[in-house]
Formats: sequence, C-alpha cells, structure tokens
Amino acid sequence: MPVYLDYCASAPIDQRVLSEVTRIFMNVYGNADSRTHLFGLQAKETVEKSRRTIAEILGLDKSEIIFTSGATESNNLAILGLLEYGLNIGKKHIITSAIEHKSVLEPMHYLKKKGFELELIYPDSSGRIKVEDVLSRTKKDTLLVSIMHVNNETGVIQPIEPIGEELSKQDILFHVDAAQSFGKLNGILRNTKYNMLSLSGHKIQAPQGIGALALKRKKYKRPPINPLFYGGQQEYGFRPGTLPVPLIAGFAYAALLSEQEKNVWEKNTMAIKEQFLNTIKDLRYVINGDPNYCLPNIINISFLGIDSESVFSALRGDYAFSNGSACTSSNYVPSYVLTAMGLREDIINQALRISWGSNSNVEFKRFIEYIKSI
Ligand code: PMP
Repeated sequence: MPVYLDYCASAPIDQRVLSEVTRIFMNVYGNADSRTHLFGLQAKETVEKSRRTIAEILGLDKSEIIFTSGATESNNLAILGLLEYGLNIGKKHIITSAIEHKSVLEPMHYLKKKGFELELIYPDSSGRIKVEDVLSRTKKDTLLVSIMHVNNETGVIQPIEPIGEELSKQDILFHVDAAQSFGKLNGILRNTKYNMLSLSGHKIQAPQGIGALALKRKKYKRPPINPLFYGGQQEYGFRPGTLPVPLIAGFAYAALLSEQEKNVWEKNTMAIKEQFLNTIKDLRYVINGDPNYCLPNIINISFLGIDSESVFSALRGDYAFSNGSACTSSNYVPSYVLTAMGLREDIINQALRISWGSNSNVEFKRFIEYIKSI
C-alpha cells in the first residue's frame, strides 16, 4: 500500500476509537430519543456524555454543542442559518476570507445572491489574513464575520484570537471554521471569543460523517440561527434527525485522546516535518505559507520545475498526498487558496500538500529519488 500522507483530507480512524465505536454499535443500538425503554435511555446517556466531553475540552456548556455530519454541514448551518435573521433586522453585510473552505465560501455566495453584501479578505503571500484587514471592513450593518482557524491547504494558522476579541466588543457575530485545528490548537480555541465554531471528526481520527457546531450563548441566548431541516426536536431543534450514537461516541473519544495526547502529537508530527526538510535540503523548493505559523503535521511545498500532476502520476503506487485543491482525474483546477495568496502560476502548479499524523510511518526515500531523478 502507498504511504498515506493526506491526513488533512481525512485521517485514519484511531484503533482505540474504532473499538469504542464497535462496542457502541453492538451494545447501544436504541434511538437516543426513545422515551419508552431503557435502550433509548442508554443511547441518550451515551450522547450526553459525549456532548459533555467535547464541551469541556472547549470550555463550553454541553447545551452549546450541536452534533452534525461534519464541518461542511456546520459551516452551512452557521451561515445559511442567519439568512432570515439578517433580512429581518436589516444587517446584510458579511465578511469572510478568500481562502476559506468551499463549505464557507459557497453559503456566503448564496447569501450574496439573496441580497447580502459580501466582502472577501485576501491574505498576502504568507497565507495569513491580517487582523486590521478584517476589522477595518466592519460597518454598522455587519452581521457576520467568518474566518477559518487553520487553512486546509497550507496549514497556516489565522489570527482568530485578536479578531474575536475586537468583534466581541461590537454587535457582530463571529464564526470560526476549526475543522483543521480542533484537537490540535484547543488552547487557542478556549481563549477565542467566537459565537459559532465548526468542528470535524475525521480530521482527528474519529469516524467520517460526524462533526459539531458550537453555538456559544451570550446572556443565555444562542446565536440567532434557524435550522436548515425540520422534522424533529433533536439537537434543540437546530439539527433534527436520529442521532448517530456510535459516531458521536467515537468523535468524543477521539477528541479526548487528542486533548490528552497533544504534546506527543506535536512532538511526533514536528519530528516528521524536520526529517522531511532534512531529506530535501539539497533540492530546489519553496514552502508555500509562512512556516512560523504552520501546524506541524502539514507542509505545502513546490519543487521548482516539477509539476505536481507528474509527481502524483509517477508516485501513485508509493505515496498518497494531494495538492489540496478541487481535482478530478480528468480535470486539474489550480488551487484558489494559493492563487488568492498571489503566488506565481508555476509555483501553484508545482504545489504538493503533504500531511501526516502522530504515528505515521513516513519514509520519503522513493519520493526523494523521484524528485532527484528529474
Ligand atoms: N473546513 C475545512 C477547513 C476543512 O479542511 C474541511 C475538510 N476538508 C471542511 C471544512 C469540511 O469538513 P467535513 O469533511 O467534516 O465536512
């Protein structure tokens, strides 16, 4: 099997989490909303314990956590959920960055189609958004600012703490997409003043198909979003539908493990990055995104003169990584993130996103041989 180096797309489930998910699948199969028997109660207890675990990691109350199918759904709920409220109170100015995940950008564009004024903030070539660029754009009718915590293509950490601090003094909602940072930068998340926070399970070795939206209360009130679906009272009415109890329990357990093992994760993933940089030190490359503000488990790198597409096809049998952009086998689309950073076209076409986990077995021999051979 090829070496798996695409953890930012999806990380393999942790074996301990898999055992717990399997145990719940086998033993806790009631509907968490069944009130008439013990199986329902047992499922409900599992869900509420998981909710408490995630809330405690984030320093929130458990009633502030809404389980969803993942960060895509959470982002859609946070943004599209504000449509009616924004129209009703006449606040229709919304701000986001040009390097957000599509699950933020597309709902934002949908609001624009519905009459909202959308402002996009661009980073410089470091891949970082400047705090002043966001704050200088806010107006009396700004409803929402949405800024991701860590970019999924470059690993660059965005300054959400100072942005949240300033926005909290104004009457502006702040949404943070923390799909890539939850479990890795929990300390910053605990210290950031946001109103809504999107989380994803499979980036922290939980099962795919589970995530959450944290809706922080202000004076006891949650952010004024409407649900996207109707037909049940689950998740306080924000997200109706039968709860996937084993996935929720797996998500909470993976979140707990990532919190408890954060130091080991940091040490191991950083050692892999150093090892990689050491092996390529004689080659000609540029790193895309400021390495001083980058997660230790990811690197976006362009080897000069070597197209990423040719690397993918030559090394398909040896390595699994990506260029982090929308890419189908028949159709290559240059990364909109690297384009928004103003990078040269050839650098963008050469960009590889390589991402790993704490226990990744990383062996770059074939990779280096191939790059050297060109
Ligand atoms: N936001 C970011 C920054 C992401 O990296 C991803 C996953 N690629 C998502 C949102 C979507 O997350 P999910 O797969 O949980 O829907």
